[in-house]
Amino acid sequence: MTRLIVVHDDITTLEVDAVVNAANPGLLGGGGVDGAVHRAAGRKLLEACRRLGGCDHGDAKITPGFDLPARHVIHAVGPIWRGGVENEDHLLELCYRRSLELAAGNELRSIAFPCISTGAYGFPKRRAAEIAVTEVTSFIDVHPLVLERVVFCCFDQAMAALYRQLLPLAAGGK
Ligand code: ADP
Repeated sequence: MTRLIVVHDDITTLEVDAVVNAANPGLLGGGGVDGAVHRAAGRKLLEACRRLGGCDHGDAKITPGFDLPARHVIHAVGPIWRGGVENEDHLLELCYRRSLELAAGNELRSIAFPCISTGAYGFPKRRAAEIAVTEVTSFIDVHPLVLERVVFCCFDQAMAALYRQLLPLAAGGK
């Protein structure tokens, strides 16, 4: 059984096998979570990211965590919200799915997600949270023994409250 946990925290402090970074296509750092992850992981993360050659929206790539407490960073590039007419929902779904696949493929047992695309990329928060919860719960339905713990790491209380509201609904819908 996979435990789904909501925390109100800075994702760079979490001791998990992988933290997901809400990255941009260049993978060379930026603001928000991305800036925090690169600051906390140190220069070696930037060097590792340079070798990855960028990443498309809706995809994800993995590196070591370097100076982070997390062993790995999964860099997921969310969609930029453009009003919902440019496949944004599907691209956000793919970010969660690809990240979970990378975790499973690398035999990781715990992963923490930030609320991808809900900062600078402007994705509506409730809609993004619903996609996050739906994608994670469907993945663990199909792969119940792969992950021990999935953490939804929220940077503000309101977002954490939203996830806490959505999680029981997802579990009850099974
Ligand atoms: P994006 O460009 O994908 O929108 P952002 O980093 O701008 O990414 O924001 C994504 C979400 O991460 C926002 O909800 C923001 O509040 C949150 N966030 C920012 N810094 C941190 C952090 N250190 N830990 C966890 N969440 C964070």
